[in-house]
Order: sequence, then C-alpha cells, then structure tokens
Amino acid sequence: MSLVERDLKVIWHPYTQMKTALPPVPIVRGEGACLYDENGKCYVDAVSSWWVNIHGHAHPYIAQKVAEQLNKLEHVIFAGFTHPAAVELAERILQILPSNQQKAFYSDNGSTAVEVAIKMCLQYWHNQGINRTKILAFKNAYHGDTFGAMAVSGRSAFTAAFDNLLFEVEFIDTPDASNIEGLKSQISNLKSDLTCFIFEPLVQGASGMLMYEAKYLEELMAHCREKGVLLIADEVFTGFGRTGKPFACNHVSVQPDIMCFSKGLTGGTMALGLTTCTQQIFNAFLSDDRLKTLFHGHSYTANPVACSAGLASLDLFLDPSTQENIDRIAESHNKFASKIKDHPKIRTTRQTGTILAMEWETGSDTSYFSSLRDRLYQYFLEAGIILRPLGNIIYILPPYCITNEQLNYIYSKIESALDEL
Ligand SMILES: *Cc1c(COP(=O)(O)O)cnc(C)c1O
Repeated sequence: MSLVERDLKVIWHPYTQMKTALPPVPIVRGEGACLYDENGKCYVDAVSSWWVNIHGHAHPYIAQKVAEQLNKLEHVIFAGFTHPAAVELAERILQILPSNQQKAFYSDNGSTAVEVAIKMCLQYWHNQGINRTKILAFKNAYHGDTFGAMAVSGRSAFTAAFDNLLFEVEFIDTPDASNIEGLKSQISNLKSDLTCFIFEPLVQGASGMLMYEAKYLEELMAHCREKGVLLIADEVFTGFGRTGKPFACNHVSVQPDIMCFSKGLTGGTMALGLTTCTQQIFNAFLSDDRLKTLFHGHSYTANPVACSAGLASLDLFLDPSTQENIDRIAESHNKFASKIKDHPKIRTTRQTGTILAMEWETGSDTSYFSSLRDRLYQYFLEAGIILRPLGNIIYILPPYCITNEQLNYIYSKIESALDEL
C-alpha cells in the first residue's frame, strides 16, 4: 500500500472535510523553502507550513542543536524543576521584547499560549478581589482552537457548532481613521468593566490577512491602558519577523502587558508556546495564600528539546542576514503587488512585511467555501507551489531563506493563474 492509501485508512486531518478532500500530498524531505514528495518533486512552501517555518526546512543548525539536546536531556517535569534550555530561551527572548516583559510561562502551542494569557488576566483581577470578567476582542479575530481561544475569536463558520458554549466577549471593529474615535467611546461606554483586550497586532491572519494601521492600534491600546484594561498582544503569527520588524509590537510605542508566541518560536521545528507578562501581573499571583497560584500547566511544559529548537532558531533569527532577507522579501512583495494591483481579476492587494495578500474578484461568491479556492489551490500544487487560499484571498508568507528565483517563480505562477483561471 502506498503512504497515501495507508494515510486514508487511519488519519483524520485538521481543517479537512474528509469526504471531499483530495488525497494528501506525501512529503518525505525538506530543504530550504522546498518540500519534496516521494518522487523528488519540489513544492515551494509559500505558506511556511501553516506560518510556522522561518529559516527553511530541516535546517542543519537547528537539527544539530536539537540532536545535542536529545542526547543530554529529553524532558523533565517543569514544576519544581528547571533546565538550562528553558532558562536561556526565556532570558534571551525577554531581552528582545518590549522592556516591560519580565516573566515567561511556557506551554505547548499558540492556542495554549492564549489560554494562559486569558487566565492570567482573569485571575489577576480575581486575586485582588476585583470583579472584572469581560474580555474585549476584534471582530474577525483568530486566537486558536481550544475553547477559551475560540471564545475570544470572531464567531464564524469555524465556531458555529460551539457558539452557544463560548463565553461572551465584547467585539469591536479593527480601527481606522474613520472609526477610531467611535471605537474609543464605544469602549468607554461599555457597562461591564473590561478585564483585558486581546488582539492580533497589525495583521489578522486566519480571517484573510486583514491589516490595520499601527497608529490606530496604538491609540486603542493607550485608551484601554487609561481604563486599566490589560493588553494582550497575540503575536503567535506576527512574532519573529513576519511584519518586517522582530515583533509587530515594535511598530507601536505602547507596550502590551502580555504577549503570546508560538509558530515561529522554534523556527517551525517543534510545538512550543510562550506567554510573557509584566512584573505587575506576576506580582498579583505572589501570596501566602495558595489559592492565588496560577493553576495551569501541561505535561510537556518547557520541553527541553523544543526549547533547544527555540534557542537555535533565535541564533539564526538574530543573525543580520535574516533581517536582510526579511527586507528583501518585503521589497520584492511590494514590487509584485504594484505590478498586479490593477489586474481586472485583483480586487485588492495588501502587505505588511513578508506577508502579501491578494483578493481575487469572484463576482458574488466570496466565502471560504468558494470553488475558486479549490481551483487555485490545485493549480498551484500542480505547479509545485504550496499556497493555501483563504476563500478568494491568496497570500504568500515564505520562510525568510526563500531565494529570489523561488519568489519570482511563485509570482509568475500567480500571474498565469490570473490569466488562466
Ligand atoms: C495560529 C494562531 C493561533 C493558534 O496557534 P496554534 O499553535 O495553531 O494553536 C493563535 N493566535 C494566532 C494569531 C494564530 O495565528
């Protein structure tokens, strides 16, 4: 039996309608921005394997560091024990975050990093005997697939089956020049006291790479801070260079209280989540009263192998050549966007750093389930490119090591898709 046949017997894939989905593409090897199937065909990974990969696949330096760690210590319970990789990764990441970030809490993935952030905020007030339980979030937000993370995400086709069970959240529009004053008074007029405001800074990834301007985010953040509302920046997607700067929060002058990371944290090598917070939040849990403890943890909290992948990825990330690559991709995206923006089939293009999104004209059909989406996906796969449109929105966000040749190949295939589909 082929690998695909065996897969179809036993595997249930994520975000996949198993009845109608095409068989999965078997991948056996990766190198740089390429993933190779059993026959040696290269697929250029234009979506960084669901936005996680930043330095390319099977990076030899990360592989070496992970192997060294595996031969020393694979795992240890993280309550009552510690280990060098977890401490060093926390030290080094806190050093490059906004200066108010002082403590690091590890978990397993982006959704859990968000769960931890939400719990930190709710219990921050609870521990002080203050009743603040309402959370503020953006419409169209995506913060993950566990229940708390789903609850603070926009209601959509993805949450429909669970909507009744999700706790209530105040949703506001993302800010722009026309609505910013309105949004601020909307927040001021809320009946309930807000506990926190959670947001994807600058780019709402899963809802279609929707983008909004840093200066309006900054205004909203400042307004919330004035009201004592804690600020959670969900940088699970935007962290580690995606928006052109190391973190999306580097585009604003207000510092968040809490930050969430995962995806690029290990360079796309292993699952790891990280929630960082201010000393002030941490202090609200310090007490002789054990009930004030943050009762949260996962079996694999701060797994040493994942932390070592994080350290190796950070070494690569801080090498000046990485920022040069980020700038190169941003510039190249920018040129391509201005080249195609007037094409009759392009409704709009938008870009932040290494993320380029293009909305296709579809007539009336703009849903995620539009057939155009499947035709585009298939078209690019056949051409050896992994692009995974969100409905009629095609986006490119490659590993930073992608070559100009590979980038130009992707662009040229998008142009031929515009002409042919
Ligand atoms: C992907 C994502 C998450 C969830 O991360 P997982 O590791 O998939 O659980 C949370 N927030 C944002 C902004 C994301 O893009």
